[in-house]
Amino acid sequence: MPRLTIALSKGRILKDTLPLLKEAGIELLEDPEKSRKLIFPTTHPEVQIVIIRATDVPTYVENGAADLGVAGKDVLMEHGAGGVYEPLDLDIAKCRLMVAGPVNAPVVEGRLRIATKFVNLTRQYYAEKGEQVEVIKLYGSMELAPLMGLADRIVDVVDTGKTLKENGLEPTELIAHVSSRLIVNKASFKRKAEIVQPLIRQLADAVARKRVG
Ligand code: AMP
Repeated sequence: MPRLTIALSKGRILKDTLPLLKEAGIELLEDPEKSRKLIFPTTHPEVQIVIIRATDVPTYVENGAADLGVAGKDVLMEHGAGGVYEPLDLDIAKCRLMVAGPVNAPVVEGRLRIATKFVNLTRQYYAEKGEQVEVIKLYGSMELAPLMGLADRIVDVVDTGKTLKENGLEPTELIAHVSSRLIVNKASFKRKAEIVQPLIRQLADAVARKRVG
């Protein structure tokens, strides 16, 4: 049984994390994008990787079901990141968390209705601004909500802005810059320090080399 479990999610995070792990001597024996398995052994006998939904990564790591994980800052802000250590910005899967609305949208009288999957961080953002808003929880395709009259604005992550543009929306406010972070279970950080700490160092070196190169 491998001593260390790393939680990753499919897509951008997996694609960008695997080269960093490779530099730390950890390679998958099978491509998770082509498999329905959830647990993957690696070339490192002490390390296995589990593939779960991005929003579940902080939960697994916080509870010690995984020792380490990679999660976007957006997901960590929404989850509440206090339960895990966040020792390293991996500088991957970068995007911006933004408020967006219809192009040249008129000022809204009364409470703004905001559709998002990030309900906690949206409430917090507007609470800090002292604005009363109505937050509407959606699970995807947020761009549709203003077009159908469900909401006045959306809060979502934006990369190139193409998705917004193609749906007649434009970003209006930047909430935060987002990149993926390495997160570590607090108990594992101490109890498995002899394997966790060198791994963090190797990943930090890999990130630094990538920044330079
Ligand atoms: P865009 O390039 O702005 O058109 O983004 C395409 C879609 O991918 C949008 O719906 C975003 O919500 C999503 N997206 C962009 N960057 C990221 C990221 N780093 N992590 C997760 N989703 C993203």
